[in-house]
Amino acid sequence: PMNKAFIAMGTNIEPRKQYIDEALSLLEKHEEIKIVQISSIYETEPVGYLEQADFLNLVIEVSTSFTPTDLLEACQAIEQKLGRERKIKNGPRTIDLDIIAYGQEEVHTEVLTIPHPRMKDRAFVLVPFNEIAPNFYINTYQKTVMQLLEALPKEDLEEVQKWAEQKPS
Ligand code: ADP
Ligand code: MG
Repeated sequence: PMNKAFIAMGTNIEPRKQYIDEALSLLEKHEEIKIVQISSIYETEPVGYLEQADFLNLVIEVSTSFTPTDLLEACQAIEQKLGRERKIKNGPRTIDLDIIAYGQEEVHTEVLTIPHPRMKDRAFVLVPFNEIAPNFYINTYQKTVMQLLEALPKEDLEEVQKWAEQKPS
């Protein structure tokens, strides 16, 4: 069976756009993953650890026959392939792939929490998510993506600017 899932991507090491394109093409290489929608790319200021470059962020919708755990493994393999090193929490990264939702499933394991616990507080996730799936309802929060976005402080939205109209290819 195919499941609807959403993945948030972030990068703040150049060439940022190239890391995004490579991650998309590596996802597509899996027979078990079809990319259904890709949001615009947004440029955002770092959160948490501030002494680092700005991020590019986007959200994609995939249709997948992978389980949540297999999808996470595929994402982590791509992060590794693109040279991601984990040195500083919330620090610079070539590419970060977070599963923000997987149908209406709730997952709570050692390695995986779905819906992603911090997405509802993050403008850099909710703005691109709202662009491609405003009416997607998240049971866990009893809200649509648009309602989650509307609940954010308005000033958070100013830190998320559209970077390019051009879709990654
Ligand atoms: P962050 O994304 O919070 O900046 P990392 O990408 O280094 O940090 O991820 C840390 C851990 O988060 C990963 O090893 C992974 O096991 C775990 N994790 C938990 N839930 C998720 C999720 N929904 N999507 C991706 N990773 C997750
Ligand atoms: Mg991550």
